Amino acid sequence: MRINSKAKRFFVECYNNVELYQQLSHGMNITEENIEDIWDTLPIVNKIDIINNQDKLIYPPALVRDLGKPPYEVYTSGTTGECLKVTWGQGDVKRSLSSLWVLRKERFGIEPSDKLCFFFSTFNDSHNNKELVKKISETKLGIFKEYIKYDNAVKLYELINKFSPTWMIVQPSIIQIIMHAWKSHGYRPIDMIKYIECTGEVLTQAEKEEIEEYFGCPVMNQYGTTEVNSIACSCEYGNLHVMDNNVIVEIVDDSNQKLPDDDEGNIIISSLTNTSMPFLRYRIGDRGRIISQKCKCGSCYPVLDLSYCRVNDKLFIDGEERSLYTLFKPIRRLVEEHGFDIKQFKIVEQGNRAYTYYLVMDSKLRNEITQFIIDSIKNDLGECTLEIITCEYIEPNQKNGKIVIFERK
Ligand SMILES: [Zn+2]
Repeated sequence: MRINSKAKRFFVECYNNVELYQQLSHGMNITEENIEDIWDTLPIVNKIDIINNQDKLIYPPALVRDLGKPPYEVYTSGTTGECLKVTWGQGDVKRSLSSLWVLRKERFGIEPSDKLCFFFSTFNDSHNNKELVKKISETKLGIFKEYIKYDNAVKLYELINKFSPTWMIVQPSIIQIIMHAWKSHGYRPIDMIKYIECTGEVLTQAEKEEIEEYFGCPVMNQYGTTEVNSIACSCEYGNLHVMDNNVIVEIVDDSNQKLPDDDEGNIIISSLTNTSMPFLRYRIGDRGRIISQKCKCGSCYPVLDLSYCRVNDKLFIDGEERSLYTLFKPIRRLVEEHGFDIKQFKIVEQGNRAYTYYLVMDSKLRNEITQFIIDSIKNDLGECTLEIITCEYIEPNQKNGKIVIFERK
């Protein structure tokens, strides 16, 4: 494994000073001289290992180093069925996104000062001010995902049109709803939008082309996670190129043995920029392969081909499409707004308006949580039959080793 000298210094510092990595690599004597040679034998960590050891992963000296500004905390999107609180230093965030910004500027002419419309899923930073639309500044408009419904098409069009964004960051399922609702109302796309960045879910080539055709602007697929930020971005040929300055990507088999290029397996990420909460050889829960053949676009960055990615499933109630997020929302709110320690979850659709929630958490709190979920779902979807089950562990999907968070009976 080739690692540049700056990254070597950082990784060695982590293995020798961050409690979780110290414990896992105990007795290995990792130095800048030997780290490249022994890299493939270094421990691989899963999300659940990290959830159970969150405080052992925080590296205070890095936080202090980080411009002296307070760090911020974000939750993983929950689309993997496991909730993890991630700490980022502000300087690290900037560094982790710098390659992505260069790319946005070079390929699409987008700069940080351009007007952005994005879609958020929680009220993390505005507990007492629960608006569906947040105008963060003159150049940033956030719209709560829950607001995205066919019924809101007219209001949504007026809102976005009035703001006139230059670009959008949006999940494929959200832009699909917007696009189909607008098409059915005969709305023309908003002229100002000159670039759309899709993230957070799988984007198929057919979906990408449909969005590009309707909006009349390029669409880029950005694959990333809250833990490490940007991992790969698609080129004009639709291939995802690894963001080499931000992450190291490896592929291993189910027994954590390194796989050669073109072999499909588990994606392992090492962050080069999150120094406050370092993710080293982290099994992210997605599967894919590194393609050995050079891409036609001429980029020297490796191509990552994702196989099973995060779900992009749709929810139908009484035959009508609804946002699947509505079912996850009470879980997110319990964790992020009310501090409940829900480690994993899964929702099984038993039939129309009937759902079973499996939650890995302290069973003593079940009654309290059950009422919260019932109230939330009733408020959003009307009468539904709900069953809430607490358990110790959720079985990953046998096919891909991932926790599937939404399943149909
Ligand atoms: Zn390419």
